[in-house]
Amino acid sequence: MSPTRVLVLNSGSSSVKYQLLDMRDHSRLAVGLVERIGEETSRLRHRPLWAGGEDREREGAVADHDAALEAVAEELAKDGLGIDSPELAAIGHRVVHGGRRFTEPTVVDDAVLAEIERLIPVAPLHNPANLTGIRVARGLRPDLPQVAVFDTSFHTTMPESAARYAIDTETADRHRVRRYGFHGTSHAYVSRATARLLGKEPEDVNVIVLHLGNGASASAVRGGRCVDTSMGLTPLEGLVMGTRSGDVDPAVIFHLMRVGGMSADEIDELLNKKSGLIGLCGDNDMREIRRRVEAGDERARLAFDIYVHRLKKYIGAYYAVLGRVDAVAFTAGVGENSAPVREAALAGLESLGLEVDGGLNTAPGDAARFISPAHARVAVAVVPTDEELEIATQTYELVGKDV
Ligand code: ADP
Repeated sequence: MSPTRVLVLNSGSSSVKYQLLDMRDHSRLAVGLVERIGEETSRLRHRPLWAGGEDREREGAVADHDAALEAVAEELAKDGLGIDSPELAAIGHRVVHGGRRFTEPTVVDDAVLAEIERLIPVAPLHNPANLTGIRVARGLRPDLPQVAVFDTSFHTTMPESAARYAIDTETADRHRVRRYGFHGTSHAYVSRATARLLGKEPEDVNVIVLHLGNGASASAVRGGRCVDTSMGLTPLEGLVMGTRSGDVDPAVIFHLMRVGGMSADEIDELLNKKSGLIGLCGDNDMREIRRRVEAGDERARLAFDIYVHRLKKYIGAYYAVLGRVDAVAFTAGVGENSAPVREAALAGLESLGLEVDGGLNTAPGDAARFISPAHARVAVAVVPTDEELEIATQTYELVGKDV
């Protein structure tokens, strides 16, 4: 029998998240996380789902990604799910930046590794860690296909009118400055799942996807293809996020340099780590912000209002880009769980056919579901994202094709 398991690795700068899936029924066999790699206080948490065993935790220094993946391999082996198993078909890797070249998931070879490396200047925080994960996994199983699934791929269908900034073309091209977009795996998965929820094919529907996690992005998807998205050259552009500012006048940066005496690195840190919800009110967890709003906290109220105002602007913009909208889909931590955000983002948009049913919106649920009233012209849905399943599916389809 041909192998049916896929190991999904999401290798960050100081963490590795992993899931082992069986692609016959999409079941999870094991999931886990190694965090604080390179520190004394590293921790591995492993949940075996296949054998029904107890969760396991290991504490103590994990020096680097080599040691982290060794530890993951050991934990999987304890459950009889070893990385050396003939049942493993491939390893699927999340890679943040694939530039313009990687429009599809790609089997990794030396040339692919070199190209991911060449993209480090546009993704300095992410691509090096993703590369390390691939290299270490390749070392563990050199015979196995390693597949890179890029956060940017889904957005490579954006027309030039959406992908280009209006700056000098020669300068932009020389430095590869353009809008790439991120969270593509989630936008792809959620737009397709929304079509399924509507009982239609992805080719037949136009969807606005709102991925609202700690990072947040919106996309306009026409007939299954992305035509615009809110993140740009980096994940900083667009919506207000947990710690990122999203859109600001670029001149804010020169102002902070010239008048505020700040360096480029300090402003980078300010806009990426100390802005957004946390910069506005000191909290970046929407649950805590809502608690404070309910208690009458003015700063939390203003942070919530700024967040929702930006979201509403993007919904309107993408409505205009698409012309006809079949559904608006909310996903990720905030999108899936925060009824007040969903309600406020669509409030007052009835004339666009957008309405939220109060009862459906606040009813608990884990599955993809509608929250618009039956008579609404545009469906509004909550659609849980599953990036690991999407990476595994794309990996397995690609490897299957090669066999
Ligand atoms: P990441 O971008 O880290 O993958 P997630 O998609 O897991 O993030 O989203 C994390 C965020 O989701 C948290 O910071 C919090 O603001 C929000 N969140 C999680 N659960 C809830 C909830 N029950 N209600 C409101 N917001 C929530």
